[in-house]
Amino acid sequence: MPHRFAPIFDHHSHVSLYAALQGCLDLSTCANPAAALRLMRALPEDRLSLVRGWHSGRLPLSEADLAGLPPLLLVNFSLHGLRLSPGAAEMLQDTDSELVARHADPGWCERNLDRLLVLYGRTAGLTPAKLEAWIQSLEATGTGAVEDLLLTGDAAWRVMRASRWADRMPWWTVPVIFEALPAEAKAECAGLKVFTDGALGARTAALAEPFLDGTPGLLLHTDEGLRQALAALHPHGKALAIHAIGDRAIGQALGALEDLDRQGLRFPLVRLEHLQFITEAQARRARDLGLVLSMQPNFTSDSVDYGDRLGPDMLARNNPFRMLIDRVGFRPGRDLIFGSDGMPHGLAYAARWSLFPPHEGQRLSLTELLAGYGPAPGDLPALELAIDETAREVRLVGGLR
Ligand SMILES: [Zn+2]
Repeated sequence: MPHRFAPIFDHHSHVSLYAALQGCLDLSTCANPAAALRLMRALPEDRLSLVRGWHSGRLPLSEADLAGLPPLLLVNFSLHGLRLSPGAAEMLQDTDSELVARHADPGWCERNLDRLLVLYGRTAGLTPAKLEAWIQSLEATGTGAVEDLLLTGDAAWRVMRASRWADRMPWWTVPVIFEALPAEAKAECAGLKVFTDGALGARTAALAEPFLDGTPGLLLHTDEGLRQALAALHPHGKALAIHAIGDRAIGQALGALEDLDRQGLRFPLVRLEHLQFITEAQARRARDLGLVLSMQPNFTSDSVDYGDRLGPDMLARNNPFRMLIDRVGFRPGRDLIFGSDGMPHGLAYAARWSLFPPHEGQRLSLTELLAGYGPAPGDLPALELAIDETAREVRLVGGLR
């Protein structure tokens, strides 16, 4: 049965990064290490290249393998880690000696993820042609507007504001990038992004209990450090977007915001990003503070994909939408908004996991899902979604072009 909908507004993606990565060598479909090495050897010798989609388990590469390669950043498929060929280490030594020395340490990578993402974006380079191609690929998924949660810098800002989607791509960035932007860009910036924990893929999200292999997860700040970091951002007068996946990180973010609130330090808007393991008590505190929850219904699939690292209780606690809406009173589109984080973009995948979730508490109706995304601005043609209840599949019928 087909359902018509207006193109959606994706509230969490990485425009300047993902668009720049297009055209970079992608190893995600590479069959074996020998094939990957052949492709990487063909990259230019005279400049730094970025290679993405590398899965260390599927494509194991030794130091000796890397030694013979042109200068390249070999970026993990999750973007949370990388290797450098010796030529790349040499090129980055002057500008980023700390990265060269410490990039093999996963804890360091997680604490410096903002720096890594910016390095990736800049190495790959954003051009008007890449951005236009990326926008067209988004349009084909039924997306009509998108927020960039981490602008990679001045150069990307100039390309984005010249694009036909300039007024459909609000962007946020981390404080270190914000500080270096020209005044005009600072004025346009939607808000500042702060990370409080890592990711499930890298086992660095800060959950109340360790991952099944004993990995504890990683809080990026002390309680006091986070409170001070947020207080220092207050004078900018900008909104905040706080990345917090695990309940330990969510609790820390709420504690810091409550503390600042008591001191009268309030922000124009505070969004908590991801929140996959928010508890009911935490949800009530978030609502009392007037926070907006920015979540990704497609990450409901983590409850299936991460059975290797999360126990059954944690898998069931991921993306507790029914608790948030039915018990705590969050309203999709008002204080509960949805995005994709680009994994993948578009309504179909999010709808598949919302309508046919592994756990009942994760269920969203199509109406709730569409309200949480909200329609993209402008008068865009409607799209159709085909929902197959028997096969538990959702497919987009036709795109914007
Ligand atoms: Zn993100």
